[in-house]
Amino acid sequence: MDINKQYEEYLYSMDRSFAVIGGVGLSQLADQSQLTLDTEYGTVVAFIIKMADNNVLFIPRHAGGRGHVPPHKINYRAIIMAIKQLGITRAISVNSVGTMQGHSIGSIVIPCDFVDFTHGRPSTFFENETVHADMSEPYCPQLRSLIRSILKEKGVDTADVIYACTEGPRFETKAEIRMLSNFADVVGMTGVPEVVLAKEMQLCYASVCLITNMASGIESSRPTATEVLDVLTSRKEFIFELLYSIASHMPIERECRCHYSIDDGTL
Ligand SMILES: [Zn+2]
Repeated sequence: MDINKQYEEYLYSMDRSFAVIGGVGLSQLADQSQLTLDTEYGTVVAFIIKMADNNVLFIPRHAGGRGHVPPHKINYRAIIMAIKQLGITRAISVNSVGTMQGHSIGSIVIPCDFVDFTHGRPSTFFENETVHADMSEPYCPQLRSLIRSILKEKGVDTADVIYACTEGPRFETKAEIRMLSNFADVVGMTGVPEVVLAKEMQLCYASVCLITNMASGIESSRPTATEVLDVLTSRKEFIFELLYSIASHMPIERECRCHYSIDDGTL
């Protein structure tokens, strides 16, 4: 792995280190030193950020290629493998989503489960062996509880939601949203297979979802990329504040079953 030894030791020396996989709007960290992490699935651009006496590996999900990698082309396997290879066991993902339940724009919701409508994305590390990762609790209960309690302390209302992941890059049709809203609360394009791959690598993984728009047909307006970006920009400070609090409260011990996510699934 092409990582400066000093950084590697820096991360290893901290039991509370974790990764943040960030979306649009969280990519501008020009003042941070950039790392290139090589994995067998490809190269990942990352930064190490000091947050509240903790070291955080920040991976801008859409970085690489020519500017902004679209959701269906993101190298999710390389991202998760880069985290795994560094010995980091926890990842917080930041995703932007459209609401199908009328959550207010700019608010934060925490997925507790997902439904997957992606297709054609490489979605497993186990191409040549049979490994059924446990998805009974795809998002780490310990991390979710930590995020919820921090938001509560800040006086911020949040909700547990079911996340529907679509293939994109187009927005959904009104009919699709009518269907999806029967069994999910928010819709996005980047949550899967990232969460699945994290479980396959036995990581603790939780997602902080920012409501950036109403899903198609929920109100009379239609979703636009500009609207999404405007909300992300306006809430960037808050997201960083939240990540900072997570960094300062990250427990040392993992008190969940994420580490065993493939133990009973291998044939
Ligand atoms: Zn966990």
